[in-house]
Amino acid sequence: MSLLVVGTVAFDAIETPFGKTDKIVGGAATYIGLSASKFYDHINLISVVGDDFPKSAIEMMQNHHMNTDGLQIKEGEKTFFWSGKYHNDMNTRDTLDTQLNVLENFEPRVPENYQDCDCLMLGNLMPSIQQKVLSQLKERPKLIVLDTMNFWMDNCLEDLMEALKDVDVLTINDEEARQLSGEYSLVKAARKILSYGPKHLIIKKGEHGALLFNNEEMFFAPALPLEDVFDPTGAGDTFAGGFVGHLCATKDYSFHNMKRAVIFGSAMASFCVERFGTARLEALTDEAVEQRIQEFVKLVHFDV
Ligand code: AMP
Repeated sequence: MSLLVVGTVAFDAIETPFGKTDKIVGGAATYIGLSASKFYDHINLISVVGDDFPKSAIEMMQNHHMNTDGLQIKEGEKTFFWSGKYHNDMNTRDTLDTQLNVLENFEPRVPENYQDCDCLMLGNLMPSIQQKVLSQLKERPKLIVLDTMNFWMDNCLEDLMEALKDVDVLTINDEEARQLSGEYSLVKAARKILSYGPKHLIIKKGEHGALLFNNEEMFFAPALPLEDVFDPTGAGDTFAGGFVGHLCATKDYSFHNMKRAVIFGSAMASFCVERFGTARLEALTDEAVEQRIQEFVKLVHFDV
């Protein structure tokens, strides 16, 4: 059994109040895979890069339990590129540039050895591509999680609404929840978004934590208050990777276990922001993850 991760593998150029990077390796699927690999070791990747993408980065993914048979490398084409600049609060950012490049004509192919898919993580990507992956699976996975962002709400809303009809969990940030629902209150927004099809909704609120909803229940997990946040890029994807990695490893998709998964996702995201790009996740030990999860337990535990 396996976790299938779909999403961008990218070059990012990032600017924060702490500094600036040239093109570094990023992408939704990269962060998701690295994060999930701390909980689960059978991860299959579907994405596309150009021939400008370093082999060493692909090897790095393989060294983190990611099978890259489904990663297409397009000769003579350029890898997806995204550039963003964070405001002083580090919670909000402007996208400076999005160059789809290889993504423009990407036709995902699900290899035969990916069909044993328990959990499907549809990371941030064109909603039509997310759908094409799902439609190639012979059996519906037990858990389908979909992440998206305002870029796709602005550019392909119809396709996105179609994709939302059959997902178990949708993850978006607070701004995107407001945009998608037209409601300011996140509780009202959640109710409306759940009526579009997702069985559960996670609203990520950056340094203010994350909310998990279904039609009956609600759960809140804080973000770990950190002294220094260097680069929030990929925090949302890292959250999603920890969330789905835990669920896939335990094979328990109940609301109760999703609460735990939200905490594990938050713990992973707290590492991601400590360095630029994927550096912190690449070097992370199991002991550090365990210790950080215990910090969360201490942070939220109280008696009445
Ligand atoms: P996050 O900070 O969790 O929203 O994720 C940032 C990552 O998403 C970066 O590494 C980007 O390469 C990637 N990204 C940015 N824009 C898009 C987009 N429109 N579609 C897919 N991935 C994107």
